[in-house]
Amino acid sequence: MPFQSILEDIVQTLRPELGQEGRVADYIPALARVPAEQFGMALRTCDGQEAQAGDSATPFSIQSISKVFALAMGMRAMGEDLWQRIGREPSGNPFNSLVQLEAEQGTPRNPFINAGAIAVTDRLVSRGDAKAGMLELVSGLCGETVYFDEEVAASEAATGFRNIALGNFMKSFGKIDNGVATVLDAYFHHCAVRMSCLQLARATSFLSRDGLNPFNGEQMLTERQTRRINALMLTCGTYDAAGEFAFRIGLPCKSGVGGGIVAVVPDQLSLCVWSPALDATGNSLLGMKALELFTARTGLSVF
Ligand code: GLU
Repeated sequence: MPFQSILEDIVQTLRPELGQEGRVADYIPALARVPAEQFGMALRTCDGQEAQAGDSATPFSIQSISKVFALAMGMRAMGEDLWQRIGREPSGNPFNSLVQLEAEQGTPRNPFINAGAIAVTDRLVSRGDAKAGMLELVSGLCGETVYFDEEVAASEAATGFRNIALGNFMKSFGKIDNGVATVLDAYFHHCAVRMSCLQLARATSFLSRDGLNPFNGEQMLTERQTRRINALMLTCGTYDAAGEFAFRIGLPCKSGVGGGIVAVVPDQLSLCVWSPALDATGNSLLGMKALELFTARTGLSVF
């Protein structure tokens, strides 16, 4: 069955469940008022075919999916040096936990928990404009101009006491080089990037193509670096549900509390699903079901 029909079929199958279960993130008003009854999917194959269904063109807050792009920027700019202050193990603790950070002297477990992404962002700030750099990167990766949602960024800043605490805590261990406010401003803006499923499927295409940007032919990362990002997505990309994702879906995935999830089938395709209602683990409820149906119907998996 062609991918287009598979996506349409999944959207049709799951549409009756829209608004039934799960809760939209409500820690800031700009996310709390996003209507739950939205659901989109899009994919891009390595040979440039695209398929999309449902609300695939509606921009949403990518939130923690931005951590993949920040990591890619960090790996590209710093290579192995990036890992001096950031680990690569699943955390087994909430994504914004302070406890583990204290036990491990300010070294975050991995780049996809908040502390890890803040540490990556600090390194990016040291190398230039981390905010503009993010927009330049994602725009270049999806072939369209991408923007921040300034209202989301401002709300994140106004309510992000725990993230600010994580930044200050790492700073106290000497693990943050720049001013915490500057680093957090960039981190909050990264969370506030707005993109659609189609833009995200395009922007993560390099992860299915050994690091090659399909839009300008640039080798964005080496094959090895790309494999490593996929490995981290599989083990650490979906909060405390990474085991469940591996078990049910079997693909590297990265989710965000805006309800988006990106998934990669190495050497084949990149995929994005979006539905704002989240389950108790903070992952999109229908998004997870959609990915499960997708892998069941296509037989695609890294295992
Ligand atoms: N802006 C959120 C935070 O830093 C990110 C949430 C997420 O998608 O994990 O707390």
